[in-house]
Amino acid sequence: MFDLIIRNANLSDGRKGFDIGVTAGRIAAIEKRIEAVAVEEIDASGRLVSPAFCDPHFHMDATLSLGLPRMNVSGTLLEGISLWGELRPTLTKEALIERAVRYCDLAVSQGLLYIRSHVDTSDPRLVTAEALLEVREIVKPYIDLQLVAFPQDGYYRAPEGVASLARALDMGVEIVGGIPHFERTMDEGRKSVEALCRIAADRGLAVDMHCDETDDPLSRHIETLAAETVRFGLQGRVAGSHLTSMHSMDNYYVSKLIPLMAEAEINVIPNPLINIMLQGRHDTYPKRRGMTRVRELMAAGLNVSFGHDCVMDPWYSMGSGDMLEVAHMALHVSQMGGIEEKKQLFDAVTVNSARTMGIEGYGLATGCKADLVVLQAADVQEALRLKPARLYVLKAGRVISRTAPRISELFLKGRPATIDGGLDFVPVAAG
Ligand SMILES: [Zn+2]
Repeated sequence: MFDLIIRNANLSDGRKGFDIGVTAGRIAAIEKRIEAVAVEEIDASGRLVSPAFCDPHFHMDATLSLGLPRMNVSGTLLEGISLWGELRPTLTKEALIERAVRYCDLAVSQGLLYIRSHVDTSDPRLVTAEALLEVREIVKPYIDLQLVAFPQDGYYRAPEGVASLARALDMGVEIVGGIPHFERTMDEGRKSVEALCRIAADRGLAVDMHCDETDDPLSRHIETLAAETVRFGLQGRVAGSHLTSMHSMDNYYVSKLIPLMAEAEINVIPNPLINIMLQGRHDTYPKRRGMTRVRELMAAGLNVSFGHDCVMDPWYSMGSGDMLEVAHMALHVSQMGGIEEKKQLFDAVTVNSARTMGIEGYGLATGCKADLVVLQAADVQEALRLKPARLYVLKAGRVISRTAPRISELFLKGRPATIDGGLDFVPVAAG
């Protein structure tokens, strides 16, 4: 007797036609045919079941603030930062909570149940940290929210950057952030990486820095981050977010850098939507893509996971909380369209992200949390192609969101009456 059984599911690890039995919020059995009954059954009918999506890089204090107090005219990272600086003094805890919780509603409907959000600590009022710590508790029943203390205006560059970050950590923000490429000089950037890694080591915390989010090929803070990670014994606990300068770096230098990053077990977090939007802005033509070297980093054994970064905020007017949209953009920008490559990209918004975030009990095995998504697609390739409806989203085995399948009716003589875009067009080779 199970609480719930999902019948005839194609699993995101490639297994096809399996039943998943859930008891007490965890996966209790995955078998070809479970001969038992359950309180509730979901017929997946050969559709894809995946562990819930994970977003390892987001800004929940800025989300849904698009247009406040004005739009970003140049569309650049730097205008986004100064626009946010205009908005920040007017932020209230109530408004921050309202927007963040509303975003979490959207995330749930997209099957996104794990989010790591940066929290700007530049304003010494720390209303952002106060609000998001409260949001973390509000959404706890359905979203695991991790928070990073993020000195948006620079750890050394902002007047109270050092003290504010420490206070945010004291308040309960659990990860150390940074932004070395935004400090006044390369040297101050280097020093900030060292100081922040030291804080993480002293406090026993993880590190997740915005690192080298620039087209400048000489922005090499990732090298320092990898070296300090090894020096402080933080291997596996450090993430380098963005790393866009690697796109423009000299190939010989990169051939030395990637093994150093592998030695430090750096978790790499590109943000494909935002990187393709904000980088290369000073180029005419040819225009650089500005996303880090995903294929090469994966080939070197580094854990690469993708972040959504922004949804409708001063940096990005688009976004819908859909991690498949993120992976879809990564596929194009990285030119990774092969079948095996698509599996790697799907992993980058699921299992790899879970590893970056250190989520316990994540996956499709007995004993794992029953935090699952049933998608209107046959497999991960089709999911990436279609960004399909999340038919069911389960948290601890309980349905917390449901979306009707998208079925189109046709009124054409001699043609089918309906089309299920998620199943009727699966390529023969995929079957
Ligand atoms: Zn970011």
